[in-house]
Amino acid sequence: MARKIIAGNWKMNLNLAQGAALVKASDDYLNANPAKHIDVIVAPPAHQLVQTVKLSTNTKLSVVAQNMCAHENGAYTGEISASMLVDAGVELVIVGHSERREIFGEDDALLEAKLHKALEYDLYPIFCVGESLEQRQAGIHFKHIEKQLEAGLKNFNADQIPHIILAYEPIWAIGTGETASPEQAQEMHAFIRKFLTGKFSATVADETSILYGGSVKPSNAKDLFSQPDIDGGLIGGASIQIDSFLELIKIGE
Ligand code: PEP
Repeated sequence: MARKIIAGNWKMNLNLAQGAALVKASDDYLNANPAKHIDVIVAPPAHQLVQTVKLSTNTKLSVVAQNMCAHENGAYTGEISASMLVDAGVELVIVGHSERREIFGEDDALLEAKLHKALEYDLYPIFCVGESLEQRQAGIHFKHIEKQLEAGLKNFNADQIPHIILAYEPIWAIGTGETASPEQAQEMHAFIRKFLTGKFSATVADETSILYGGSVKPSNAKDLFSQPDIDGGLIGGASIQIDSFLELIKIGE
């Protein structure tokens, strides 16, 4: 069975004090509710990674970096390497968020390299895929997602795939307030699971967590998370408010 996960992507938000308060509240909640079957992940901006790792005492609370360089080390000003993330105590890294693809021009080849570098260092990647509104309207969304998955995963073997968490994040639903309907999200998640079955195996497909992202909030999370192929959420806006993030953790379990 795939792990159920609630992941909060803070993006370029929250200062040190705000980040500490949010992670402390999540940690306290998990400590007070030890029977909950959910893994919680928070993705602070880079300057908060070390602090966040230190503040998370519960084994169900992990820290994910928002990005990582594909290179080992060297003259890459502004970048952070896989070994530096490990050094900071980070366990996961987001790869291929649509904002990295769209704003910073990260292409399929670079993202594939990042995925391999992450696994080399035992970092669990959260690999994001998603179509634009134009692609959905043109009816090529399945083809597009298949292309992104194929490009990122083509050189991995079946044993490695369950170490990669997938996130389906339709670009038109990210930060827009517009959410994919539970049916639209489930349809794409089932498609992704079928892709994993065809390319790797039914066991791999069953064990890989596939998160949904795109304007998830407490009011729509229950319907989304109850879909059979949705294993939790990658959440932006609603993850940076303590109340709504705790509510999402409760709904997700
Ligand atoms: C995201 O950044 O991954 C995301 C899904 O953002 P939001 O929840 O704000 O749409």
